[in-house]
Amino acid sequence: MAGPALPPPITWQPAWQPGFADLGPAFGRAVLPTPLPAPYWVGHSAEVAALLGLPEGWQQAPELLAAFSGNALLPGSQPLASVYSGHQFGVWAGQLGDGRALLLGQVNGLEVQLKGSGRTPYSRMGDGRAVLRSSIREFLASQALHALGVPTTRALCLVGSPAPVQRETVESAAVLTRVAPSLIRFGHFEHFAARRQYAELRQLADFVIERHYPACLQGPDPTGRARYAALLQAVSERTAQLLAQWQALGFCHGVLNTDNMSILGLTLDYGPYQFLDGYDPGHICNHSDHQGRYAFERQPAIALWNLHALAQGLMPLIDDALAAERALAGFEDSFHAAYRQQMRAKLGLPQAHPPSQGDSQDNDLQLLQPLLALLAGEQVDWAIFWRRLSQAAAQGDWERLRALFLQPAGIDAWLLQFKELFPNVYQGETADLMLKTNPKYLLRNYLAEQVIAQAQDGQFDPLQTLQQLLARPFDEHPGFDAYAGFPPDWAADISISCSS
Ligand code: AMP
Ligand code: MG
Repeated sequence: MAGPALPPPITWQPAWQPGFADLGPAFGRAVLPTPLPAPYWVGHSAEVAALLGLPEGWQQAPELLAAFSGNALLPGSQPLASVYSGHQFGVWAGQLGDGRALLLGQVNGLEVQLKGSGRTPYSRMGDGRAVLRSSIREFLASQALHALGVPTTRALCLVGSPAPVQRETVESAAVLTRVAPSLIRFGHFEHFAARRQYAELRQLADFVIERHYPACLQGPDPTGRARYAALLQAVSERTAQLLAQWQALGFCHGVLNTDNMSILGLTLDYGPYQFLDGYDPGHICNHSDHQGRYAFERQPAIALWNLHALAQGLMPLIDDALAAERALAGFEDSFHAAYRQQMRAKLGLPQAHPPSQGDSQDNDLQLLQPLLALLAGEQVDWAIFWRRLSQAAAQGDWERLRALFLQPAGIDAWLLQFKELFPNVYQGETADLMLKTNPKYLLRNYLAEQVIAQAQDGQFDPLQTLQQLLARPFDEHPGFDAYAGFPPDWAADISISCSS
């Protein structure tokens, strides 16, 4: 007698679209992923799966575990390692390239890339692998930043393996599937300019303009060189917006080399990043950054430095130093305007112009600097300060805010001045808005360390719990307050470097 019909096997036949991989052989090498022994699922994002059109139940499919660990190819995929160059810590590093990443193709307008899938012609001395620890950090951070409204690469899934990988100690391997509309970096442009491969440079720039910056074609001479200066300006604008969001959130990237700068203004390449605990503008989150080049408060200036490197890369196409200069001239103003809007929102001040009653355009600036000085003076916890300010605005609980300071006289005086300058600010919907601006749940380093240790012991539930909290960082999530508290003392001793 025939039994019940078996459900059809779950497969995924992506409708690959033409994309970066079709630009030609100058842009990279076809490389097969290196098989990964005994892969197992660590995590996935249902939201990213939906963007890619993965079928229901895909995480149960052994074919897809094989594909996302690099043990099998998705139908029709021709993996590619791309070549780029870049400046690392302010020094020209020459050719770099995807040393451990492979582009599988583009689906629904999104590039799909394996990270940690083995050696490529660009691996240099590296092993082509990523470890579970750093892959969990990227997996969680890319979801956390997205949920906070910050442009970022996304992560579809994370696969682990018992395969040993030598870092400072022996760790276990992992492969992350990274997704973004484009993974092109500033360094891609620097590469072809440095090699004097100007035809390829133009091809790359035109590809990026057509796909991602079509507005650059709307000038009086859409086929002329002005479009390249327009591209530089548009990238500069997006980068300024991104940096404003990072600074307002207290996000420190840690390795702002030009090869880690996205041409789309996305947060890219999560390594030793950190969300600030106590507010320390000079905070250095990268253990290997001995000079503090990438210290928190230097990020906007470094982004502009990197944009100058991009300008150098585009110079053979722009061919007009003044036009390039003009394209970058707006960065500082854009950054300051965006940062100010971010900080106004954090303070609960309306964005509207002209200013509301009792509010002069500059009052917020007069208030912000002294507040930052107060926070820095006692290294008050950045996220908790803003959340408690929002709660005070909502419920009038100013004592919990004052309690953050050993010497509350400074904050008392500041609050008096604030209420004098903005008498009507905490009325109506303002407080609600503040609670939707100042997150309760952030991916602090110690939280990541905890779920990493548990995942290394084979327990993935804590990772999922954290993932769920970070997906809705502005909500209260009753019962989970422990994730939103002060970091434990040992958090200060966590040291994270570039090696991952
Ligand atoms: P990162 O510091 O992670 O941005 O990497 C800088 C460069 O080194 C990029 O070209 C990476 O592809 C490459 N790279 C980093 N780690 C490895 C590794 N384990 N194996 C091969 N290449 C790597
Ligand atoms: Mg990188």
